[in-house]
Amino acid sequence: MPRPGEVSLGHNGVLFLDELPEFQRKVLEVMRQPLEDGMVTIARAAVSVTFPSRFLLAAAMNPCPCGYFGDATRECHCTAPMIQRYVSKISGPLLDRIDIHIEVPAVKYKELRAPAPSEDSAAVRGRVIEARERQTERFKGEKKTYCNAQMASKLIRKCCGISQEGEKLMENAVTRLGLPARAHDRILKVARTIADLEGAWDIQAKHLSEAIQYRTLDRSYWA
Ligand SMILES: [Zn+2]
Repeated sequence: MPRPGEVSLGHNGVLFLDELPEFQRKVLEVMRQPLEDGMVTIARAAVSVTFPSRFLLAAAMNPCPCGYFGDATRECHCTAPMIQRYVSKISGPLLDRIDIHIEVPAVKYKELRAPAPSEDSAAVRGRVIEARERQTERFKGEKKTYCNAQMASKLIRKCCGISQEGEKLMENAVTRLGLPARAHDRILKVARTIADLEGAWDIQAKHLSEAIQYRTLDRSYWA
């Protein structure tokens, strides 16, 4: 009898995969369907079972097998084919389903020790709750849609209107970066969320450029 796996155990929660390229490529590819549909179907000879799997995927990886590629202070000893083999574990279609890509450079010891003034978690939490409340209000009359990430194309068109300046930014991103159609809708949803976090009613050009910027790492790194 099929039993729920990690993607279903992560339903309505966070699934964190550390060292992403260490997973087998075929295991990672299996996540494409649940990432898209929020459910996973396991077919066995006698029975086929569908489990819910609407999870928030967070994943981390090094830039290369040794971890120092692009580091300003330490030398990377990996060869180009080694790096190529390493990053190719993550396929293009899987990358396209990940909305936010961020490079996190190593923190220098001095910076680690300096008392950096930063926002505390309670303030961030408050902002997230407010943004969620805005989304609850937005999708009040909708079925099966509770947050921006769940918007179907029809709702995206309704709730993610952008200005002419935004249209230009978007056109530029699609033609210059060669983003697929799927990325287009995902950028709009992320921009909608950035605007919600700021308490802005409309998606402004700055929200859109921030969302587009989160898609540029894969274009430079995986290219
Ligand atoms: Zn390396």
